[in-house]
Amino acid sequence: MRLISSGRHHARFEFGDLQVISLRDGYIDMPPTRLRDEDGRALGELPAAVPLVGGNLRLSVNAFFVTDGARSVLIDTGASDNWHDPTMGLIYDALEEAGVDRAEITEVAITHNHEDHVSGLIAPGGSEAFPKLERVWIGASDTSVFTGRLEPVRDRVVPVSEKVAINDWATAIPTPGHTPGHTVYEMRSSIGRLLVWGDTVHVPTLQFERPNVTWEWDGDQSQARAARATLLRQLTQPHHFVAGAHLDSPGIARVTASGDGYALEYLAPPIG
Ligand SMILES: [Zn+2]
Repeated sequence: MRLISSGRHHARFEFGDLQVISLRDGYIDMPPTRLRDEDGRALGELPAAVPLVGGNLRLSVNAFFVTDGARSVLIDTGASDNWHDPTMGLIYDALEEAGVDRAEITEVAITHNHEDHVSGLIAPGGSEAFPKLERVWIGASDTSVFTGRLEPVRDRVVPVSEKVAINDWATAIPTPGHTPGHTVYEMRSSIGRLLVWGDTVHVPTLQFERPNVTWEWDGDQSQARAARATLLRQLTQPHHFVAGAHLDSPGIARVTASGDGYALEYLAPPIG
């Protein structure tokens, strides 16, 4: 997997016979008290390696577009104008910057039903962001989000309740924990596998080294911890790569075992 080009809000990678474009939707600032230990308590002092901005953790928000030139999948959609502060909703700029016409996107895969992942299906102003949308893949237990603002796309929702192929090279894999319907998407190319793993990790500077640390908003803390352990172990295999919604933009990395935990090695310098 190799970086080909990048801009302010996107980075493009060659991945064998696939291309992967990381799209930066923006960032969220969150208090460090959202990090939890195994007893569900907020962590005490954080290691110096965990940077804070004005006392907060700054989480990148990324979506990913994967294409073989003929078929494409957009995984996650950012927050659009549906977040309380205007630091997100950049995905439409990111797509334009990357030369992807959003009017041509037909397949969207959602990792889970939180606002920073699903809201971008509706553009600011209320129109559908992807006018030729044919299918929205999402975990069956997360489909209740398609009411109100998201009601217009409900008729194209495809609930995922077991491992299922989206096309020849993309597979949806249920990984409940962060939400009951949390789903990761595995992309298989001629040179390896990329796991687009949604919210498996929120704070990369801490949760690779200490994978037992959870996030307050992991709906089921122990299930989320177990899912993270399984995926991290899987990612240490050769030719495996990860794309993370909250890894530092552009958020594509390799994972290695390190001490009692793991280390990540980004494949591209930061953007944004
Ligand atoms: Zn998230």
